Amino acid sequence: MKSCMGKVLRVDLTAGTTTVEKIPDEVYEAVLSGKGLGAWYLYKNIPAGADPLGPDNILGFCSGALTGTGAFMTGRFTVVCKSPLTGGWGDANCGGVFSPAIKQCGYDAIFFSGISEKPVYLYCDNKGAEIRDASAYWGLDAVEAENKLLEDNVGGKKARVAVIGQAGENLSLISGICNEGGRIAGRSGVGAVMGSKKLKAVVLAGSRPMPCADPEAVKALSKELGRKIHKIKVPKGLGGSLAFGGMAMGAGPSIPLDGALTPMLFKHWGTPSNTPMAVTSGDGPLKNWSAGPKEVGGVGMALAYSPEKINKIEEAKYHCYSCPLGCGGRLDISGIDYSEFYETHKPEYETLQAFGPLCVNRDMKSVLYMNEILNRAGMDSISAGNTVAWAIECYENGILTKEQTDGLELTWGNYEAEIELIRKMISREGFGNDLADGVKRASEKYGGKEFAMHVGGQEPGMHDTRNDPQLGIHMVAEPAPGKHTIGMALQYGAMSLCDICSWAPPVKMHAKAEDLEPTENMGLISKANACYSMLFDGIGGCYYAEMMGVHMYKAVDYINAAAGWDYDGDHYMEVGARIQTIRQMFNVKHGYEPADVKLPARMQGKPPLKTGPLKGVTLKNEEQVSEHWKAFGWDAKTGHPLPETIEALGINKLMEV
Ligand code: SF4
Repeated sequence: MKSCMGKVLRVDLTAGTTTVEKIPDEVYEAVLSGKGLGAWYLYKNIPAGADPLGPDNILGFCSGALTGTGAFMTGRFTVVCKSPLTGGWGDANCGGVFSPAIKQCGYDAIFFSGISEKPVYLYCDNKGAEIRDASAYWGLDAVEAENKLLEDNVGGKKARVAVIGQAGENLSLISGICNEGGRIAGRSGVGAVMGSKKLKAVVLAGSRPMPCADPEAVKALSKELGRKIHKIKVPKGLGGSLAFGGMAMGAGPSIPLDGALTPMLFKHWGTPSNTPMAVTSGDGPLKNWSAGPKEVGGVGMALAYSPEKINKIEEAKYHCYSCPLGCGGRLDISGIDYSEFYETHKPEYETLQAFGPLCVNRDMKSVLYMNEILNRAGMDSISAGNTVAWAIECYENGILTKEQTDGLELTWGNYEAEIELIRKMISREGFGNDLADGVKRASEKYGGKEFAMHVGGQEPGMHDTRNDPQLGIHMVAEPAPGKHTIGMALQYGAMSLCDICSWAPPVKMHAKAEDLEPTENMGLISKANACYSMLFDGIGGCYYAEMMGVHMYKAVDYINAAAGWDYDGDHYMEVGARIQTIRQMFNVKHGYEPADVKLPARMQGKPPLKTGPLKGVTLKNEEQVSEHWKAFGWDAKTGHPLPETIEALGINKLMEV
């Protein structure tokens, strides 16, 4: 593939060796790079039954097939491994600038196996790769370690660092991997895998050119996209009315949105633009997924998380590599009197929701502070937030006592207790030690399983499945369950996939109750969502580019121009289906049974909520997931990919390469 480096680096931390491996072109053609390359490599190379925290697990850092070609919004990297949190396929995705740095060292991905005897890091530049002693960095938080590694290795020169904080070192199963001062690839417990290998960091200082078949054509596409994004203006007063606009959103889960809405909101406010809407519309889970807006303060709670308040303390906007949108920012938090930090990354909506309305906490400043604590420690805020909310509900219901919580008054809205609890989780101190491995394990020890929100072992993202049954399908059917980034009805409405894919159903103007029934059509919609999502993970693409839709963000044209190919949308959707099927095969190979993964009863609306926009909603999730599996050519009862599907996608042959 002309936009890829054609090689990966394999690092054996037990033997202390590094080896360059060539990747045949047919692999890129079949699964692109990024998550696709990672899926192919891990399926082949991790033996069935491998201990996720043992030497046989492989941790991969994968760049994207379009990273560095000039294609906008393709600078994200994917970390892949067998997940210690679920026992199945694991991956986590992150922006920043680490993805191009992998390619600039000459590789499309770096894979680590084995376990080092002492803490190490990998240093890599144009001359090659070297495993170095990391004793001086072990114990530092991710930001401190990144700064010191840069100072010690390259002085003032350019280098990029992926690093774990204390949560990963302590093998917290909800820990992630950081880059760029605390941006985190948070999901699947990837940080614990890195910690188990005693790998503190990866420092990349290469400067090789990143190839592209037709840079002029790519440039023209980026120019066109840049012009469209530039033209989008935010209507005056929209910030303040987001909380009220959310009520309209709640009127129907499948109102098709123009893809241009995504850049409009995210360009100005970033993902925090979603928080007020989420509180009032039914999109955001409240009070540990148990309540409607009124019970947490309604519009008052929504306005407490106004994105305008965040913009007021934004010092600078932050753009990932090759992104004209720049949904990130650096915030000045020196005004928080109990904070030892002066700055933090603008929190994602997920973090605001998880430690705010999910825990009935109206104090946004405290969430900004917790954002920095979690980012530095490298702990996933989605998993941590769901776990803290479970602990609060257990405490409020007498399942946990003050003695068990080390004296913490875990009541709704007590943000001081929230802060103390996450500190304990990060350091694995006392009660925190039992929560550091997520809500499933904590509830197995203490009880309160009915309050433990996890899907197949992983805590769900901050979008309510009762508001969007399509999301409910993906939360369960996704090989790394609990994720919110694979597909939603709202997203399908924005993307117009039917205009590039012959089998993707048309978008309806407004979903009616019968559209949410488990039907073949619904299965095809969720399949299309998942295939397109895999395609974006293969190119290193941003989720928000995906949500712009096929007319605004021309992914098919971009790939053809960068790779020198001439395929249509159907071809690329099949690439997405292949990647997803390999990930599903990974789970089957490792005994992580798709049919055992269920939505918690509460997330299915069993019993239904009594108030709010989701009042009375109950999902038919199991039947809907079955339709999804059928659409993929997987067994409708077990979720196992059928032999004829595996054959038709050419996966058997691909695994022999
Ligand atoms: S939209 Fe945001 S997350 Fe996506 S590439 Fe741009 S800055 Fe990064």
